[in-house]
Amino acid sequence: MDQAQRAFLEALTSAPSPSGYEQPVRKVYADYTAGFADAVRSDTHGNVIAVRNSDGAPRLMFAGHCDELGFQVNYIDDRGYIYFNTIGGHDAGLVPGRRVVIHSANGPVPGVTGRRAIHLTPASERGKPAKIDNIWIDAAVRDKEEAEKLVRVGDPVTYDVALQDLRNGVVAGRALDNKVGTWVVGEALRRVDSARLQASVHAVATVQEEIGLRGAETSAYGLAPQVAVAVDVTHATDHPNVDKKTAGDVTLGGGPTISRGPNFNPVVVDKLIEAAEALDMPWQLEAAARGTGTDANAIQLSRAGVPTGLVSVPLRYMHTPAEVVALADANNAAALLAEFANRLTPTDDFTP
Ligand SMILES: [Zn+2]
Repeated sequence: MDQAQRAFLEALTSAPSPSGYEQPVRKVYADYTAGFADAVRSDTHGNVIAVRNSDGAPRLMFAGHCDELGFQVNYIDDRGYIYFNTIGGHDAGLVPGRRVVIHSANGPVPGVTGRRAIHLTPASERGKPAKIDNIWIDAAVRDKEEAEKLVRVGDPVTYDVALQDLRNGVVAGRALDNKVGTWVVGEALRRVDSARLQASVHAVATVQEEIGLRGAETSAYGLAPQVAVAVDVTHATDHPNVDKKTAGDVTLGGGPTISRGPNFNPVVVDKLIEAAEALDMPWQLEAAARGTGTDANAIQLSRAGVPTGLVSVPLRYMHTPAEVVALADANNAAALLAEFANRLTPTDDFTP
């Protein structure tokens, strides 16, 4: 990953984008892809679509969702404490005790998520899981009036966490689910080889995945792709306290995963595997025995059905403010998608 590619990932991860509030990350994606795409546009739902070789065939869609988990201002009490809705699937036990930023029309408002201290908690309630309605945002305002000058009901909130390098090319941060997938589809579009490319390639930063694959549904309908690959993160199972007999065997740094199962077209799966082997890169197989909770599900079921594959970047600690990925896996995923695009021809038949 060179400096410009790393800067793209940092810009994606630092741009706040809870589902429905993706404007900052949409701009980052549009600005980066404008450097090499033939055209970049946004649909009215907010999906950002960057295209190369638009007259080519088949029509290929890459989808990486650009929204992230977050919170939303719901109610401000008389003392100015701010109660919130959750956006996406949070583990409530991980919410209190965090620095957060409320993204208001007046700019960022810093705060913390407060909860009664352990000392003030009756013995009978200690050790019980946290509940969202017993957590609030404390922005240190004097009262409701001061709070309402700063923030409005409906404002989005994110954790105040920046991308951090650990060791061995591994990074930690918030929202790597799925800023890393957004990075992969943008990067893959940059890397396709125009000398070999016959397909038209539409790399889409989809919105609102975390609340029900909503952007994949609208963008797939609009594009009507003939073949598609979604890129998301998947659970690395190489940490303690996970059962590989049920969760499968996925290693951080072991390469992107290619998923098999009813959510995926077998011809697309084979072509992804062929591309990975042609590149002589590490990759991993993953099984999913039903529709997945990824954009691949909505895309596969669009219109009369779209032959769809899923490539995932292994990630530890999904849906927490300390998600962990290996940069090499993202880099290999981008190479894999580009090679997959390079190898498509107008006569490819995806009938299973
Ligand atoms: Zn997610």
